[in-house]
Amino acid sequence: MNELERFKEKILKEYPRLTEDDTFKFACRPGISCFNDCCGDVNIFLTPYDILKMKNWLGISSEEFLDKYTITPIDKNQTYPVVLLKMRENEKKTCHFAAPEGCTIYDDRPWACRIYPLGMASPGENDEIEQEFYFVLREDVCKGHEENNTWRVGEWIVDQGLEKYDEFGQLFKEITLHDYFRQGKSLNPQKIEMFHMVCYNLDKFRQFIKESTFLNRFNLEDVSKDQLMEDDEYLLRFGFRWLKFALFGDKVMKVKSSAFRE
Ligand code: SF4
Ligand code: SF4
Repeated sequence: MNELERFKEKILKEYPRLTEDDTFKFACRPGISCFNDCCGDVNIFLTPYDILKMKNWLGISSEEFLDKYTITPIDKNQTYPVVLLKMRENEKKTCHFAAPEGCTIYDDRPWACRIYPLGMASPGENDEIEQEFYFVLREDVCKGHEENNTWRVGEWIVDQGLEKYDEFGQLFKEITLHDYFRQGKSLNPQKIEMFHMVCYNLDKFRQFIKESTFLNRFNLEDVSKDQLMEDDEYLLRFGFRWLKFALFGDKVMKVKSSAFRE
């Protein structure tokens, strides 16, 4: 069992399970003694929507974002590729977006930074989880728990702008927690590449659609080709749909009969 799996097991066994109506005490503010201390030497898994928001905030392509700001760890037990935010190579391993005045990418900071100090566990991640729950992460470094502000979990979710992130997170989970994986099946290298392109390298996916016969192969009356070319969120939603079809054989897209003759 690796470190992450051990941590997940501890959460399941020891952490109180919270619903949106439960409360916790916390405040994070400039001037607090630990300000910025949490923005270094930390494992932040990036979701597809995180990458979409961050690369657009920076005004760079998804390819450039992946090259400059992420690492892709390889683990033989992984069912699908994951992407982590890369930390600087200084002593404290500071995040590239941490500055003395706080997070320079605050409005588009990733899901994990938004929801902190809460975490979320979903059915499908583990057989023991029957319904989604939240939990509070208490780390010695964080003095925010000593502050006197009381939050309802649901209130925190709204305050931190998590609703849109969770909407895309839900679509991502339909892929990552798909029955296909629960049945112990794995993706071949070509499918891993597809997954990586759609989820993390959205501009490359757009290029692929543009330059291949991809769109001609499917009946896509309900899809706007112009919007696929212009709207990242629209493209990502479409990409998730295609992945369900291409990776797992879900009947969510129809191949044109003419495509079989090509
Ligand atoms: S993205 Fe922002 S909030 Fe998240 S670790 Fe980096 S500096 Fe901190
Ligand atoms: S350690 Fe906690 S209180 Fe301190 S800056 Fe980070 S989140 Fe805020």
